Amino acid sequence: MFDSVRVRISLWYTGILALLLLSFSAGVYVVLWRNFMERADSVLRSVSSAVVSILGKELSENGLDDLAARDTVKALNFPENSIVIIDGAGDVLADRPFGSHRQFDWKGFQGLATGETRIENHASSAGGDPLRVAITHVSLPPMDRQYTILVSRSLTPLLGELAADRRILVIAVPLGALLAGAAGWFLARKSLAPVLAMSQQAHRIGVENLGERLHVTNPRDELGRLAATFNELLTRLSGAFQIQRRFMADASHELRTPISVVRTTASVILSKGSRAEEEYRNAMAVVESQARRLTRIVDDMLRLARADAGHVVLQSRLFHLDEMLLETVQAAVVLASQKEVAIEVSELSEGPFQGDEDLLRQMVMNLLDNAVKYTPPRGKIEVSLSSQNGSYAIRVADTGCGIPAAAQSHIFERFYRVEQGRSAASGAGLGLAIALWIAEIHSGSLELERSTPEGSVFRALLPRLPVT
Ligand code: ADP
Repeated sequence: MFDSVRVRISLWYTGILALLLLSFSAGVYVVLWRNFMERADSVLRSVSSAVVSILGKELSENGLDDLAARDTVKALNFPENSIVIIDGAGDVLADRPFGSHRQFDWKGFQGLATGETRIENHASSAGGDPLRVAITHVSLPPMDRQYTILVSRSLTPLLGELAADRRILVIAVPLGALLAGAAGWFLARKSLAPVLAMSQQAHRIGVENLGERLHVTNPRDELGRLAATFNELLTRLSGAFQIQRRFMADASHELRTPISVVRTTASVILSKGSRAEEEYRNAMAVVESQARRLTRIVDDMLRLARADAGHVVLQSRLFHLDEMLLETVQAAVVLASQKEVAIEVSELSEGPFQGDEDLLRQMVMNLLDNAVKYTPPRGKIEVSLSSQNGSYAIRVADTGCGIPAAAQSHIFERFYRVEQGRSAASGAGLGLAIALWIAEIHSGSLELERSTPEGSVFRALLPRLPVT
């Protein structure tokens, strides 16, 4: 049950609201109580001061304590309050209603400073009726005798009112919390409904229908943004899936050619009982060259797969690009000389560089390999290393057949080969993809600077990072 967000939201909502209602009710109750008391106290104070002033007047008129006290209580008519006037010796001079002084032990009220009024709660000795009592000590002319005046009123009606208020709150708070809970449940249900719908839609999307998208009701609200983000993720995933599928299809196509060449060669040789040694040799040469081609394709595929998975760890160290370039050119000269293609180094700046030397050697080798492959005999390849604007530029220019304009934007794609270039000698279309990845993993770039029927120029830019 608690695994449901709807239940959790409703419970939290109800709990917080119940707590708020409870604190609010407690606050209201305390304020009510204080207001009631303050009102009662101000009445008691007013009555007390009325008693003092009338008693003072009566005393000045007839001078007799008990007569003045009796006249005073008679003159005052406050039905809800009892009044008791006591003299300095502690004798009750007058009270109203009669006998109201018996309700409390007024002896305890002695010792109050003259002119002071104190208000206290007392339980009446008779029936336990709670009382609010104002006690005032005064000294009045003409004899300047001491008097204690007690004005009291019962707290029972007030407590009754408070009890009624309390009863209302006791019913209202749980009822309010219950209603809030129901409202919370309804709100949570309503606001989570789109999430539920989205999860059902997402549940139906699989590899076979990756083109489907979640329905976005309002793209500006939070759930709309969530659905849009999810849709973007689906788009990226389906893009990656398509690339993966194409890669698989291209890869199996590329692997099938050398394998079928090997199989055909073997069946031709085996179809006759015995053959001349030369025929066997030729067949083995075909098998060997196809096996080499297969190895290269598999190696390249493996390298790219590792690169995609982010499993390649750069063996970064400090080396000299110029030295690496010279060594690679020397290796390529062997290939080129078989085709009567000349390789020349036209410019060679000093190039201390921090990076993976083996990978960068392969990048240059792939470019040179292509240049040799696509340059006709007696052609020329020019290699240069220059330093410009904080980068090294490696250029490989050839006088080869060039790349058709329509193909130029595709040559860095995996398995892409220009149709006219297809031959047993051409690769699987992975060489430039790998070279580009190597440049990029060194925060550099690789591009076809220009290509015409007179030749092509490839340029790799490598940023000169601070040497560590
Ligand atoms: P491959 O291994 O087939 O050469 P690449 O990825 O290295 O694959 O190159 C992709 C395509 O780009 C090649 O099929 C080729 O047609 C074209 N290409 C690459 N380099 C050159 C070049 N220097 N001159 C002409 N065409 C080239």
